[in-house]
Amino acid sequence: MTEVDKSSKLSRSEVFRSLRGVTPLLSRHKGLLIGWLLALGVTSSATLTLPIAARRIIDQGLGASMAHTNKAFVFAVAVAIIMAIGTAIRFYFISLLGERTVGDLRKQLYSHLIGMDLAFHDRHRSGDLISRLTADAELLRSVIGSTISVALRSLVTVFGSLAMLFVTSPRLAAYTLIGIPLAVLPIVFAGRTLAKASRRSQDRIGDANSLATETLQGVATVQSNTREDYERGRYTQSMDLAVRTARKRITTQSLVTALVMLLVFCSIIALLWLGANDVTQGHMSGGTLAQFLFYAIIGAGSVGALAEVWNELQKAGGGMSRISELLETPAAVQDTGNARPESVRGELQFRDVRFEYANRCDRPAIHGFNLHIQPGERVALVGPSGAGKTTVLNLLMRFYDPTDGSIAVDGTDIRQVSLQSLRENIALVPQSPSLFAASVMDNIRYGRLDAGDDEVIAAARAANALEFIQALPEGFNTLLGERGARLSGGQQQRVAIARAILKNAPILLLDEATSALDAQSERAVQEALEHLMANRTSLVIAHRLATVRNSDRIVVMDQGTITAIGTHDSLLAEGGLYADLAALQFMAMES
Ligand code: ATP
Repeated sequence: MTEVDKSSKLSRSEVFRSLRGVTPLLSRHKGLLIGWLLALGVTSSATLTLPIAARRIIDQGLGASMAHTNKAFVFAVAVAIIMAIGTAIRFYFISLLGERTVGDLRKQLYSHLIGMDLAFHDRHRSGDLISRLTADAELLRSVIGSTISVALRSLVTVFGSLAMLFVTSPRLAAYTLIGIPLAVLPIVFAGRTLAKASRRSQDRIGDANSLATETLQGVATVQSNTREDYERGRYTQSMDLAVRTARKRITTQSLVTALVMLLVFCSIIALLWLGANDVTQGHMSGGTLAQFLFYAIIGAGSVGALAEVWNELQKAGGGMSRISELLETPAAVQDTGNARPESVRGELQFRDVRFEYANRCDRPAIHGFNLHIQPGERVALVGPSGAGKTTVLNLLMRFYDPTDGSIAVDGTDIRQVSLQSLRENIALVPQSPSLFAASVMDNIRYGRLDAGDDEVIAAARAANALEFIQALPEGFNTLLGERGARLSGGQQQRVAIARAILKNAPILLLDEATSALDAQSERAVQEALEHLMANRTSLVIAHRLATVRNSDRIVVMDQGTITAIGTHDSLLAEGGLYADLAALQFMAMES
């Protein structure tokens, strides 16, 4: 089901179910919540005493003795001071509560996302995930920071002023009971439409964010194809769609607000007319009518505020449903195994492994894959592009779980080992190394966070990276750009190799680890890797056969399955795919 389909089915109960997800987050900050409620109690009570001050000023103050007048005014000033201080405290507590809760929500969501399997990340665009982490969570901040505050305050004020209306004039008050439900009706009817519109609007913002993230990350590709104007057009279209979607929500919201205001003011005017009649006939004093009106206006203002609150809640419900959807998606790769082997020898066993990527169910990336690797053995995977070599490494790392069959390390199924201990025992140098916007030192240390500086330097030396690192403006402390930009492809690979060397794991996976190096650097790095691979189980993927000819065994893969296994010489003698590949490569080298 697409997100748009889902959004059209967002019901009111779903909005509240999504918003209920916030309750545990709120309850973590009980102190702030209680402080806010207390301040709210004080300010609401103070607001409700203001009309009394007004009546006193009119009935006792005006025309009476100066002492009475002064007393009435002092009372009014005292109420104003209490209200001011109470409001400041209330604002402080609720704003902080909003920030803390949204901070917690963002931490919870990030922690969930960073642990999700790669199939999940294949499905979701990172720009949309970032949008949920930022824009959608932001909606919630406004809900807690202001909406909930306004909601409770308004509710207290509506009921408080209603009670006071009855105290002031039960007859007139009875009429308000007709007005209030009338004013609330449009709010209730528009609620569901608003929630749907808001969800759609957030979805469109997510789309626009995805597009921006993707194209900014691939800015070199955009510019090299001179697609700047094309991308400007696409972003403009995407943003316009987001604004058009938001406009639908805003239109509904404006209409509801106008209708509520009209109903509220008409009710007040009707009350004023009735009250004016009472005063003329001497049934009521002018001050009492003023007090009544004051309560009616305060109450009406709060009903209006409640209408806005309802709108805001629907809006945040839409955003929160996008967040809950992610939080409620379980990881396909479950960390249920609790075995934590003390030391790993590195024996690997693939049994009848089959795997399809979720979006390519028609065609298995790997099938009938059987391979037994002895501890310390060096095995190369070769074969044409798309044969499934990287997939074998992905499955061993448990980035994905096989659809069928099993993989074992030292005889234990990797699903029974904790994910952390499995991955701690494997060092992977991926096809395209991913470096972070941090110093070279920290990028290498990512392999083992407790490594000392000298260990990092030794790893860099072993990866033949020391020379170029020292030539950087600030050596090991040079900050790399996002994804390691500012280093050449070959330099990035050497940093990634240094990271793997530092990790010092018993199983080593190299996926085209030296493909971006020139022949001379490759030879130097190859030497370092030879040292590294000694006494470790290693699985090496390489297109350049010269780099794998010394492997203990070479596994030839084609279309997701093993077609031959042997040594360089035996495979050459056998003929077939390997011999063909070798002939092509060595012929090219000779010529
Ligand atoms: P290369 O030598 O080009 O890196 P490879 O032998 O490592 O290729 P794999 O990356 O394992 O090949 O891919 C095997 C098959 O699975 C290919 O057909 C590829 O299109 C598909 N594939 C790889 N990754 C994904 C993915 N994330 N989602 C869907 N299909 C994928």
